[in-house]
Amino acid sequence: MRLRTRFAPSPTGRLHLGNARTALFNALFAAKAGGAFILRIEDTDAGRSQAVHVDELVEDLRWLGLAWTEGPDIGGDFGPYYQSRRGDRYREALERLLGEDRAYPCFCSPEQLAAERERQLAAGHPPRYSGRCARLGNDAARRRIDLGEAHALRFRVPPGRRIEYEDLIRGHQAVMSDSMGDFILRRADSSPAFLFANALDDADMRISHVLRGADHVSNTPRQRLVLEALGRKPPAYGHLPLIVGAQGRPLSKRGAAASLASLRERGILPEAVMNYLARLGYSAEPATLAGFDELAGNFDVARLALSPAHDDEAQLEHWQRLAVRELTADRAWRWSGVSSVARDRWPALWDLARDNSRRPEDLRVWAELLAAPQAMLEPARAEIGLAPAGLFRAAGNCADCEDFVRVLERVRIATGLGGRRLFKPLRAALSGCLDGPELARLWAYLTPRERAARLDYAAGLAQRDDA
Ligand code: GLU
Repeated sequence: MRLRTRFAPSPTGRLHLGNARTALFNALFAAKAGGAFILRIEDTDAGRSQAVHVDELVEDLRWLGLAWTEGPDIGGDFGPYYQSRRGDRYREALERLLGEDRAYPCFCSPEQLAAERERQLAAGHPPRYSGRCARLGNDAARRRIDLGEAHALRFRVPPGRRIEYEDLIRGHQAVMSDSMGDFILRRADSSPAFLFANALDDADMRISHVLRGADHVSNTPRQRLVLEALGRKPPAYGHLPLIVGAQGRPLSKRGAAASLASLRERGILPEAVMNYLARLGYSAEPATLAGFDELAGNFDVARLALSPAHDDEAQLEHWQRLAVRELTADRAWRWSGVSSVARDRWPALWDLARDNSRRPEDLRVWAELLAAPQAMLEPARAEIGLAPAGLFRAAGNCADCEDFVRVLERVRIATGLGGRRLFKPLRAALSGCLDGPELARLWAYLTPRERAARLDYAAGLAQRDDA
């Protein structure tokens, strides 16, 4: 059978790095096995789900570089891929469970349930449904339904069952059914509950493997019971360890708690995000920047870590640096939004500034600094102020010379200056700032006319006339 994985977000807000990681691992898992990766929208919570969030989800996942074989935007053989449009299937399954007495109507009000819960907690017991409505006879229940009384549907958890299964990440699991109360399948407002709809959809969509957050660990035995009652095969589940902040700090808005949209706005590249996520709780290879196919080729569920993954902004920056370096000039142009440079000079500027740029604004600053001699950062102005004007005049006399080693030699002879007393002011004059690319490359980038203008401007700023 073909391996089928899925990502099943609820469209209630923007996609965060945490759930993007879940999506990525499911996509890698499927791609490695030549299987299918499905996107399903879990929008049963009508109050919180919004269509605009579905569009954003699709946009964010595509930006990250993920593609699915079936989903809300492209359809597929097992649709619809919105839970809100799968009501008939839920109804059918619920009727079957009711008919076989595996489910029953529950008339308990929220107030009753809250009071029950409080009593249990006060007595030091874990809260669980008491089973009050489980013992109502069919006739009594029918009468109350006919009178229009609001009711939910609950699953009748079989007593004394030991539920055992293998978690793809956590290994062998065993849970006693007596530790769980009868849980809700359909809420009083008629909407299907998460546990039920999610499990049934996985079976209906022939999902074979699910990687999801560790917050769902306790749902798995319940979902297995529901599917068993329906005579359906559950997928194999693997629960990804939580992401925790570096050194015990809370998750940061710049790291794992950040939305993909906010990272994109900050100029973080999707390749950086993907490479960062692929190593969050996973010992991914290679250690170099990798594309989706390469990551998928190396993916192995057995290498997913059991211990919590550590969010580390410094790592994200590390991948960003590598990703920026790999950008083509065309992509870098679109990414940076630089407009102060002629298009035909861009590849040369990009080549010059790429190693010193991590964000689009870094490139914009370089483009501006190199556009005009007056566009200069304050420290560069101060540095020039301390240097002799003769240094800039001597260099200016060589503005036509393409051989930078010769230029330096001539300035050295003319001024007697060397080392940092020569390089620092020269760099300040040529680039408008005190650090950045190699001087020889800066020189090569500038035209003779630009060199002359910059050096002339610097000579005017320099205070002392003696060399
Ligand atoms: N809609 C659920 C969530 O976003 C899906 C959980 C699952 O993957 O099974 O948490």
